[in-house]
Amino acid sequence: MGKKVKQKTISVPVLYDQQHRLHAPLYEYDRGLKTPYQEVPPRADHVLVALQELDWVKVLPPLKEETMNVEELFAVHDPALINHLRESSDLAGLQELDHPHLAPVYHYPWIFPVRNEMMRGLLGSEEKSGCFAFDTYSPIGKHTWSAVLGSARLAWQGAGLILAGEKLVYAICRPPGHHAGPDCIGGYCYLNNASLAASRLLALGPGAIVDIDYHHGNGTQEIFWNNPNVLTISIHADPADEYPYFSGFAEETGGEDAKGANINIPLSKNCMDADYLQGLELAMNALKNFTPHISWLVLSAGFDTSMEDPTCFFQLSDPVYEEIGRRIGSLGIPTLVVQEGGYALNKNGELAARLLQGLHAKADE
Ligand SMILES: [Zn+2]
Repeated sequence: MGKKVKQKTISVPVLYDQQHRLHAPLYEYDRGLKTPYQEVPPRADHVLVALQELDWVKVLPPLKEETMNVEELFAVHDPALINHLRESSDLAGLQELDHPHLAPVYHYPWIFPVRNEMMRGLLGSEEKSGCFAFDTYSPIGKHTWSAVLGSARLAWQGAGLILAGEKLVYAICRPPGHHAGPDCIGGYCYLNNASLAASRLLALGPGAIVDIDYHHGNGTQEIFWNNPNVLTISIHADPADEYPYFSGFAEETGGEDAKGANINIPLSKNCMDADYLQGLELAMNALKNFTPHISWLVLSAGFDTSMEDPTCFFQLSDPVYEEIGRRIGSLGIPTLVVQEGGYALNKNGELAARLLQGLHAKADE
């Protein structure tokens, strides 16, 4: 008699679109210093390779461009921002044609209006990019618009699969999205993929976005600030000493119409596994106790919490990602994973696979 082998019968859709590779700025300005761009194409490609190795995963092709109207983005973004992204990409393309020796051309915002009357003047100038950005980390090149739209489309596709009855989906979104607000880009983000997915999932009823990236999901918080039907939870490094510095504090609990529907769990910069899992328990309790009942979950997954990440300070070990997945999966809520940050190129794939294995464990019991 052979040993009974447990069969993995439930396959998990993984979404990937190679056009993200066209968005590849060479450098960023980090506190005024010109340094190599951290948010690079291999981040997503390594995750694809690692997830493909799981025998219960099925990689689906991206939707055709015409499947999602650009107007879908207006659920979470100001049309003026969308126009700006599209026009700036077109402009970069024209400038590359005119000055081929400059290629690739990426526009970096560098002057930022801090008062409305300053914005009026700046919006009329060629340097208006600072009216739509809160920092310099999201430059726009000729393929940026198509790449960010492709990334958003994956999240939208993932939401569609959950609407159709899937219990677990992973969207390998790149560029990431959780720092992008209604009318403002920054932190390598342009379109808020997780929020777009959430806006579509509201067709199922109230739900939640849980953000486990190292950095506060300021854009997601802002988009749903006054929406009592979307519980937004972010577990991140304390903004008192980490990016984005201006939001992510515990006292930010939601707008007038949605008091208690935003929960920030800031953790110490040098947080270890046990500290993190304690923070996660607070999130789990909030998910269980939220009224109205939650019928879907978007997990904004960043792997820059890893001890291996070159840009961040948390000290999370590899196995804890599986534990995080297992705990969230134990809730039994249909979940769309939307990829956010994570800059350890030799680790992202493995950590994504561990997280997905943990989430999948419950579904496969
Ligand atoms: Zn991050």
